[in-house]
Amino acid sequence: MPTTAERESAVFMMSAGRLPVTLVRGEGSKVWDDEGNEYLDFVAGIAADNLGHCHPRIVEAIKRQAETLLHVSNYFYTIPQLDLADVILEQSGMTRIFFCNSGAEATEGAIKIGRKWGQTRRDGATEIIVMDEAFHGRTLASVNASGNPNYREPFGPLEGFRHVPFNDVGAVRDAIGPQTAAILVEPLQGEGGVNVADEGYLVALRQVCDEHNLLLMLDEVQTGIGRTGKLFAWQHEDVQPDVMALAKGLGSGVPIGAIVANERGDILEPGDHGTTFGGQPFTTSVALETLRVIIEEDIPSQAAARGEQLTSGIRALEDRHPLIDHVRGKGLLVAVQLSEDVGPALVAAIRERGLICNVVKPNVLRLVPPLTISEDEINDAIGIIDDALSSIAE
Ligand SMILES: *Cc1c(COP(=O)(O)O)cnc(C)c1O
Repeated sequence: MPTTAERESAVFMMSAGRLPVTLVRGEGSKVWDDEGNEYLDFVAGIAADNLGHCHPRIVEAIKRQAETLLHVSNYFYTIPQLDLADVILEQSGMTRIFFCNSGAEATEGAIKIGRKWGQTRRDGATEIIVMDEAFHGRTLASVNASGNPNYREPFGPLEGFRHVPFNDVGAVRDAIGPQTAAILVEPLQGEGGVNVADEGYLVALRQVCDEHNLLLMLDEVQTGIGRTGKLFAWQHEDVQPDVMALAKGLGSGVPIGAIVANERGDILEPGDHGTTFGGQPFTTSVALETLRVIIEEDIPSQAAARGEQLTSGIRALEDRHPLIDHVRGKGLLVAVQLSEDVGPALVAAIRERGLICNVVKPNVLRLVPPLTISEDEINDAIGIIDDALSSIAE
């Protein structure tokens, strides 16, 4: 019998690596592998399973919709997408929405809106200012908007993006010219290393956009839906974007994304954009239930409290573990900056002790548990990380 890893390497395009675990079941903040081992899940489907695994209300919503209507296309009116739109627009104070299926599609749509803004409101401008170390997805446009050159260079150049350092308003000002249409930025860079925006950065970008008639487009694919302690990360500073991209946490693991706009960003016209699956009754009804739980139970506040517990708990280990350089993040989007490139070995040692997590750089450990994680589970996780750090240091 071939192993799961052997089966995989025989059939898949080997475009990305995996952690050596085969997961078969989940419940709450825990998952189990095919050998019956239990893990605390600090990957959470890459910051997507914000309500944990098999949340009873999500399971119920899926069953209910499976017995009703899954997909009919956007040739027809359907109700769940309208109900979901109402909630997102009410919560964000924005005015228009388009549903798609993933984060890359959401940022891709935002990029189209930014470019159309340039075409129609900035005299044919096409360039979008993006940040070093950004991550916006893997489609051709979104990967070119991203910071990591290794992700885009194999596919040749694509024009239309100007990369500047993150957290540097002066660099943005210097990059603006008649060619500039919009700015696309994450409020906190997740894949790029959990790089938190400095206080005032987004406020300054909002000002720059207003001064120069540019669109401010925020990629909240990873930060949105309560992850950082507010429903949307821009609500920490109340800097409303013109366009916002959502995905990851929106569907509790069901693939859904959204492009949200205010009046300025509302410039798509009939024929400009479309989708077969986006906005279908299945994914939108699950996302609607997700948001209802998140709002009714004030999950963002829980994320803030548990995030505080996690960061201060790991900070308390700093004295004993010189491998910890510092801890950073917001809410439950947390990174441990290591003083050496021991991330992969540390991830393995942590996994052996019953917790799964990953590295976004060889020296940056990312911790993104479900937002519903309990106080006890956070304490367990801190204990595991403490123990794993000791084992690595030996
Ligand atoms: C994950 C991510 C994306 C891409 O989402 P996919 O669903 O993988 O296409 C885009 N932007 C950010 C900030 C992300 O974290």
